[in-house]
Amino acid sequence: MTAVELAADRARLLGVLADLFASGCRVPCVDSSDPTPWTADDPAEQELAARMCVGCAGFADCRTFIRRWPKESGVYGATTEADRRPRPGRRPATTSPTTRGTTR
Ligand code: SF4
Repeated sequence: MTAVELAADRARLLGVLADLFASGCRVPCVDSSDPTPWTADDPAEQELAARMCVGCAGFADCRTFIRRWPKESGVYGATTEADRRPRPGRRPATTSPTTRGTTR
């Protein structure tokens, strides 16, 4: 996969999220007064953001994006960077061991 494909996928996701938000849907990282936790480097802040993803109208699209691009920094689809990091003996997780993001 190339940087051009990543940019196109990111632009598509941002467009979907903007449309959802404009139509009144709940998109926490877009409508939050402080979106910092979604882009923070601090694992504790990322955990907080991931919990706030629950119920997001863009959850499915966001998960699709991060499954394709798991090395992106920040929180996507209720997963932190640590959640997506490969660990010895198992495949990289795209879901948390908790039930974050599973209300939809
Ligand atoms: S699932 Fe989380 S990171 Fe993705 S769009 Fe929704 S609030 Fe933002």
